[in-house]
Amino acid sequence: METTPSRRDTIDVRVREVGPRDGLQMIAQFFPTAEKLAWIRAEADAGVREIEVASLVPAKVAPQFVDAAEVIEGARKIEGLEVMALVPNLRGAERAVELGVDRINFVMSVSRTHNLKNVRREREESLADFKAIAELLRTIPSARRPALVGGLSSAMGCAYEGEIAEADVCLYARELAALGANEILIADTVGHANPKRVKRLFHAVQGEIGTLPLGAHFHDTRGLGLANVVAALDCGVRLFDASLAGLGGCQFVPAATGNIVMDDLCFLLDSMGLKTGVDLMKLIAVREIVARNLRDTPLFGAVARAGLPTHYVSPAGSFEPAR
Ligand code: ZN
Repeated sequence: METTPSRRDTIDVRVREVGPRDGLQMIAQFFPTAEKLAWIRAEADAGVREIEVASLVPAKVAPQFVDAAEVIEGARKIEGLEVMALVPNLRGAERAVELGVDRINFVMSVSRTHNLKNVRREREESLADFKAIAELLRTIPSARRPALVGGLSSAMGCAYEGEIAEADVCLYARELAALGANEILIADTVGHANPKRVKRLFHAVQGEIGTLPLGAHFHDTRGLGLANVVAALDCGVRLFDASLAGLGGCQFVPAATGNIVMDDLCFLLDSMGLKTGVDLMKLIAVREIVARNLRDTPLFGAVARAGLPTHYVSPAGSFEPAR
C-alpha cells in the first residue's frame, strides 16, 4: 500500500512540546488564552509538529485549563500541527473526541500511592478506564480516530514511595499495549532517573511492547534530564517530551527545575546530527512569549543563555544559525 509522505518522514527524532500542559499545570497565574495560542502557533512555526496543548480535567481542579476547549479549537487550525491533550479518565477522553484532538495522552501512575492521590483510583481501575477509552476510540472511523498514548508516570521513582519496581513498569506497559495503546510513554515525573537505569528500564519495556513506539518524558529536577535523553537514544527511543524554557516545576520540590528544556533538547539532537525539523533560532525567540506572560516564573535553558558555539553549523541541517 502506498502511503502519503508526511512531514514526519523527514525527521529522525520526534520532539513534543508539553509546556502548555505540563509546564503550566503547577502555575497559578493564568496564562491568557490568546497568548497560549500565540505560543503554540509560534512553536509550530519554528517546526515543532506535536504539542500537548491542554489538560482535560474539570476546571475546578485546574483553573489554568478552563479554556482548554478554546485552546484546542485554535490549535487545530494550525496546519501540520498534531494536537495532543492529557485526559485523566473516560469523561476527559469523550471531551477530547468531541473537540477533535489528534492524540489523547492518558496517564496513570505506576506508583499505587501517586495514582490514588492524583486520580483517586487503584491502578487496576485506571487500566479499566484505559480499556473503556480504547473501546470508545474503536467506534470512531479510523480516519478521524485520535491516537492513544498510554502514559506511565512516576515510572522511575515516586515522591511518596521512592523506588518503583521495574517489573511494575513492564507489567503496566504490557497491559496498556495489549489494551490498544498506539504509543507507550515512560515518565520520570519527579526526576529520579539516571542514565544507567534509563537504559535498563527502556530495554526491559521494549522487550514487553515490541515495535510499538516508546516515548520518554524526563524532568530535569536533579540535572540529569539530557543525560537521560542520551541513554534513551542509545536504546533506540526516538520520541521525547520537553518544555520550552524548562517550564513544569514539581509540586514536591518547589525550587526544582521542570521538564527538560525543549530548546536545549533540540540543540543536543541537532549537534548529534539528528533531524528534529525545528529551527532552533526561531524556537529560542518563542521564549519571549512565555517570558512576557510569566514574569515571576524562572525560565531555564543553557543555549538561550550562552548562545550557539562560534561558527556553529547545524549538523542536522535543521536551521541557519544567526550570524
Ligand atoms: Zn511531566
